[in-house]
Formats: sequence, C-alpha cells, structure tokens
Amino acid sequence: MDKNPGQPLLALDRVETFYGPLQALRGVSLTVAEGAITAILGNNGAGKSTLLSTILGVLDGQPRQGSIEFDGLAIDGMATEKIVRAGISYVPEGRRLFPELSVSQNLTVGGYIRRDRAATRRTLEQVYEFFPLLSERLSQPAGTLSGGEQQMLAIARALMNGPRLLLLDEPSLGLAPILVRQVFDIIQGIRDEGVTILLVEQNARMALSIADEGLVLENGSVVIQGPAADLIDNDEVEALYMGVQTRSPQSGSGT
Ligand code: ATP
Repeated sequence: MDKNPGQPLLALDRVETFYGPLQALRGVSLTVAEGAITAILGNNGAGKSTLLSTILGVLDGQPRQGSIEFDGLAIDGMATEKIVRAGISYVPEGRRLFPELSVSQNLTVGGYIRRDRAATRRTLEQVYEFFPLLSERLSQPAGTLSGGEQQMLAIARALMNGPRLLLLDEPSLGLAPILVRQVFDIIQGIRDEGVTILLVEQNARMALSIADEGLVLENGSVVIQGPAADLIDNDEVEALYMGVQTRSPQSGSGT
C-alpha cells in the first residue's frame, strides 16, 4: 500500500473554508507524508473537523481558495464519492454507525464503494485479524456494542474501502483511558500496515505519542508544526494542550 514512504501523499496549499460569513480555515498549508501519522491538535472550535470535512469535500461551501492534492491528483472541488474512490476514508467524530444494523452489515456498508469483490473479501479477512472481537460479534446490532467496540467498528468500517489515507476525527472521545490506549495501538498497527493517517485529537499527549508529525490549529490557522517528538517537548504545546482536558474522557458511552 505504501508506494512512496516519506513523500507527500496529501498536500494542502493556502486552503480557506467558510461557513457563510464565518471563516473556519485561514490559509492552511500542510503536507501529510506517505506512511506517517500526522496529528492535528487544537482547542474546541479551532477548525480541526472542518479541516477533515474540507479534505473530503463534504461541505457545501467548498474551499474558496487554495488547493488540495492527493497523490498528485487535485481533489478540491471533487465530489466526495470520487475522493473516497481515490483512496481516502473517514472515521467521523462520534462514530456515526448504523446502530440497528449488525456489525457485519456496518462493515458491508463501509465497502460499498468498491467494485472489486475479491479485494473486499481480502480486506474483510484483514479487518477480522485486526479486530478479532468484532469477528465474534458479526450478527450483533452495532448499537449494542460498548463505546470502545463501537470505535473499533467505526475504524474497521472505514478500512473496508481499502484506503491509502485514513482521516480520524477524535477517536478517543468518550472512551475510558484503557480503551483510548487500545484504540491508539490499533491506529499505530494500521499505519504499520502501510495506511497513512491524519488524526484529529484533543488528547494531545496520546496523539503525539504515536504521531510522526504534529500541527496545532488555532482559530483556523496553523500556528505550530513539526516533528511530533519536538511538539511533545514544546512548552507552548505543553501549556496549551497537555495540562487540561477540555472534555472528560469518561463522558459519553465510555465503556
Ligand atoms: P471541536 O473539537 O469542538 O469539534 P474543531 O476544532 O473541530 O472543534 P470545527 O468544528 O471545525 O472545530 O469548527 C471551526 C469553526 O467553524 C467554529 O467556529 C465552529 O463554530 C464553526 N462551524 C463548524 N461547523 C459549522 C457549521 N456547520 N456551520 C457553521 N459554523 C460551523
């Protein structure tokens, strides 16, 4: 899967996104290296989710300025379905599973865009290896899984597209600390299989502990970026993002 490790797989150049009159992204430029985990940090409302939505093209207001390239292909202005077909998958904040559908059906939905059935079957086998617990609960309605299991299913569903780039929006949200660790171990494992990861997180310390690169968004602008190891030691990042948890990890369905 990893065609050009270390080379930019995704590149944003001076991207601006608006919600009506509100400017949510201001001249955002960044690159995501193939085979790496890049962590996007920042407080509530900084523009992190908007960044992922902008990449995926799911916002009504497309970026009014700037360009987005994925593997050399200009994807800004492209329909989301085409962007997904090009190899980008998304795990939304709050998971957004189909709670009435079974684990198995949720996984099938995740792979709907693929035409190559043999490849889909191979991915399913890999997903079962990655998430043995899910393979034991295939007929269980997704809504009856625990919070941690639902997060695993949301990630597994996104992998069913066979992506080269996985966008993850706050995978730790609402999970107890022990489950957060498990989810982050899985994210690392997915990267080790060659999938490039762009990870939005409020849990800065945990995100930087597995990331190769990190950047901080503030009020829609990139204010700090660099190797994750440097950001962990950066006093400003420490003071702003590692002292206080803005949301309780125990909130929501934290089991
Ligand atoms: P959070 O961690 O709370 O999700 P975030 O860093 O992901 O925050 P965004 O959700 O991207 O931030 O929001 C960036 C800005 O855009 C905020 O001012 C927010 O209020 C605004 N915003 C987000 N979504 C919409 C929308 N659908 N319509 C209008 N404004 C929006």
